[in-house]
Amino acid sequence: MWFVFPGPEAFAMSSLGYLWLYKAIDMLEGVDIERIYSDTKTTRIMREKINLIGFSFTFDTDFLEIFKFLEHNKFSFKASERKDTDPLMFAGGPVVSANPEPYKKIFDFFIIGDGEGVNEEVVEICKTLKNRPKSEVLSKLAELEGVYVPSVHPAKIIKRTKKLTECIYTPIISGNAFFPNTFILEVERGCANRCGFCLASYLNLPIRFAEYEKIIEAIDLGLSYTNKIALLGAQITAHPGFNDICKYIEKRIDAGENIEMSVSSLRVDSFTPEIVNTLVKAGQKNLTLAIEAGSERLRRVINKNLTENQVHNAIDVAKNCGLHGIKFYGMIGLPTETQEDIEEIINLSKRLKKKYKGFELSFGFSTFVPKANTPFQWFGREDEKSLEAKSKYLKKELHQLGIQASISSAKWDYYQAVLSRGDEKLTDYLIEVYKQGGKLGAFKSAARVLKIDTDYYANKTYPYVQKLPWDFIDTKPGKEFLIKESQRLISQANID
Ligand code: SF4
Repeated sequence: MWFVFPGPEAFAMSSLGYLWLYKAIDMLEGVDIERIYSDTKTTRIMREKINLIGFSFTFDTDFLEIFKFLEHNKFSFKASERKDTDPLMFAGGPVVSANPEPYKKIFDFFIIGDGEGVNEEVVEICKTLKNRPKSEVLSKLAELEGVYVPSVHPAKIIKRTKKLTECIYTPIISGNAFFPNTFILEVERGCANRCGFCLASYLNLPIRFAEYEKIIEAIDLGLSYTNKIALLGAQITAHPGFNDICKYIEKRIDAGENIEMSVSSLRVDSFTPEIVNTLVKAGQKNLTLAIEAGSERLRRVINKNLTENQVHNAIDVAKNCGLHGIKFYGMIGLPTETQEDIEEIINLSKRLKKKYKGFELSFGFSTFVPKANTPFQWFGREDEKSLEAKSKYLKKELHQLGIQASISSAKWDYYQAVLSRGDEKLTDYLIEVYKQGGKLGAFKSAARVLKIDTDYYANKTYPYVQKLPWDFIDTKPGKEFLIKESQRLISQANID
């Protein structure tokens, strides 16, 4: 089996899910698995010996590397054009779990939801039925919960949601990793805040916590190999034992150990002196705070119930703990956003700059991308020109205040939206994009060649009654809930 990561080895070596699944499959008896990256030069297992290929699919544009891999190894891009003697190919990860439809003609099957357990079951079935016709293997695979086999035409697919019975960690610590020599472990999965646009939250409901004892065991294991650990989770401080985890690390640092610890992100309510102190002691240099929008009105609409006072408190704590700056994350082009909301970002920055002289503030913005299986999936993106004007204005105003601001490319975000709300008609489009070089211009010219109305996917706001290509994926809490939640959030747009 080849287990493909559509990026360079350095990224793969910092990808917790990929490495953990690799380890789980590698432990199965009678399975020879090899990791393949975009910069792999030669393989240990010959192409002719391969029965199964698994692909990690984390980012919308991963398809480009996947096509490159298929082309390099002389496999047809479409499953229907591959021979019965070719290996079965499947993909898993957040992109295909939310909406596999643009890729349904490429892979033989998908894993929808959490990959632990089901990957092993899939590999066992493929191993047992190794010499049987593909159609027979696929029918068997389609019986598994969370496995989507397009050729079997299922009416509904239930996303796999795993109890966190173990604390998963990177089984390989590499100096060549993007985070070199770092032991990464997962403290919790998901985020209970359910911001209206957030796939990380909706795809991983309900929030689940690894057991405290198992986390400590994993930390002990990691620290016996390296002094760098990274704790992962979208809402890490929601873990009921998070303070105790921090205390445990702090105690070891105080006893003379040189430990570097970092966390993926902090919520504003977790900017407590205890937590921030531990992080600073453990070498964390920068803290980031996602405020998403400048006005409290818009934050309410997106379900980010964060007040300006909380932002001030967070900066107070950061300052008192000896940090010199903080980075904010925000989004522009959110549903119901007006110019006033943009002005509010600037006004907020002015107030903070005045109050916290000498404290460094910076901003990172992205533009809103509607994601399948979230309450904002129905909302189209704002027109590109107006987003670019907003970006330019924000950058200029913030720079004048001495605040660095980076803003993601509205053009790339547009195509991300096309893919995230795409359907099966996009497969030929994706192939054409690849053939034309995969750059921004290729997305545009491929659409022209194949007469694909990309605005329909990215910019159009769909009525709630419209049937969506990914409706058959039951991610829980389900479409009805998403409609109600979407309506509830938008109804707050005009409340002062
Ligand atoms: S707080 Fe962050 S991770 Fe949680 S739902 Fe909101 S954007 Fe997503």
